[in-house]
Amino acid sequence: MPDLYKLPSVDRLLRSEPFIALIEAFGRKATVDAIRSVLKHIRKELSLSKTTTLDFEENKILSLVSDYLISADKPTLKPVLNLTGTVLHTNLGRSPIAFEAIEAMKVVASGTTNLEFNLERGERSDRDVHIEDLICSLTGAEAATVVNNNAAAVMLVLNTLSRRKEVPVSRGELVEIGGSFRIPDIMSRSDCRLVEVGTTNRTHLSDFEKAIGPKTGLIMAVHTSNYVIEGFTSNASEFELADLAHKHELPFVVDLGSGTLVDLEDYGLPHERTPQESIKDGADLVTFSGDKLLGGPQAGLIVGRSDLIKKLKKNPLKRALRCDKMTIACLAATLRLYDNPDRLIRRLPALRMLTRSPDEIKETADRIATELRNSLENSFNINVSPTQSQIGSGALPIENLDSYALVISPIVERGRGAALKDLSKRLRSLPVPIIGRILNDSYWLDLRCLEDEEELVSQMSLLNLK
Ligand SMILES: *Cc1c(COP(=O)(O)O)cnc(C)c1O
Repeated sequence: MPDLYKLPSVDRLLRSEPFIALIEAFGRKATVDAIRSVLKHIRKELSLSKTTTLDFEENKILSLVSDYLISADKPTLKPVLNLTGTVLHTNLGRSPIAFEAIEAMKVVASGTTNLEFNLERGERSDRDVHIEDLICSLTGAEAATVVNNNAAAVMLVLNTLSRRKEVPVSRGELVEIGGSFRIPDIMSRSDCRLVEVGTTNRTHLSDFEKAIGPKTGLIMAVHTSNYVIEGFTSNASEFELADLAHKHELPFVVDLGSGTLVDLEDYGLPHERTPQESIKDGADLVTFSGDKLLGGPQAGLIVGRSDLIKKLKKNPLKRALRCDKMTIACLAATLRLYDNPDRLIRRLPALRMLTRSPDEIKETADRIATELRNSLENSFNINVSPTQSQIGSGALPIENLDSYALVISPIVERGRGAALKDLSKRLRSLPVPIIGRILNDSYWLDLRCLEDEEELVSQMSLLNLK
């Protein structure tokens, strides 16, 4: 039976030199917690062990305690390399932020700001003033406000304009986005009654006409985002729906989802509907995300008629859903980049990645493949192959972008599936985890979103050590 009582006490350890250094680096409480946890672990090991050889010298305890402190000190949220081929990947935090926008966040983060304070008059003001004019001048809207994300924007609009009233929506637009955003659920949580109109594939203007009654609060169109209905289809246009709503003195609201502020065709990408177009077609309010094609922070933008925006701001939900100073600073700086469309493609990471040419991606892939073959040739075959990237986040779901990938195949006689799973796990456990996908018996790294070539090479070289 091992000698448990020979373990040093917490107090004795805390007085010894190396532990004092740990206290200085990590703080007293964290160090004491770490020592307690390590000693408890050793005691448990000892009580289970049948040997009498005890390995609990102070040095061993020291190394366990410092490992514990170092791993507990690491943030769980950290950078990863998104090589999945989905540019705006919701699970990987969607859009990277532009340099200018990061600087703007830094400036306001560290101190106090005039977030809701009018410096000229010395009075309380509204936090939206920092972004409203920018959004209006880019979208052509009368007024604008911002909340935490687009789901919140939709909820705020529905709850403000149609509480305890009916909202007709086409059956073809009752979408689910990313599992937790489902139009019927958002309707009921916003205290609205959804009235399903038409059929899945065909909804006519007359279907909407029939659905309008004394209890109707507004008419809504939802961008189907992550799917398309093909074949025998028809839908009332936003122009027609706006006209119909206005004949009945109802607001017409569009949830645009991604919403881009520029014509993507100007950048050689497929067209995606803009808030400008919806407003021109008669929408009274349009909602869209800040971190999808717009390329900014997580936010929900609401643009449109100023009398309606005023009503939104009076809803107590607005207070619960509002953005903080960092989001507002980030969004404002991102929007300012749109003032200069020629520079935008270089400054806005989302647009830069979406417009990267296949030739450029292939050159990068060839260069990296050559380097990796040198270091990994004994364990993996590495090839460069054409692939297709996706925009992601429900924008243009069927449009693909030509790209190139590094295709990594483990050199094994058998058990390829297991070897691939093992490889993907090792890639995920690197200091900067690499996220790709398994396809056709290989591991694919689409390089469209790679901005730091050296980072990928240096991370991959650690694979040998694992
Ligand atoms: C993405 C999306 C949402 C949700 O937006 P978040 O910013 O993720 O809250 C809502 N509606 C549509 C049509 C969308 O595409």
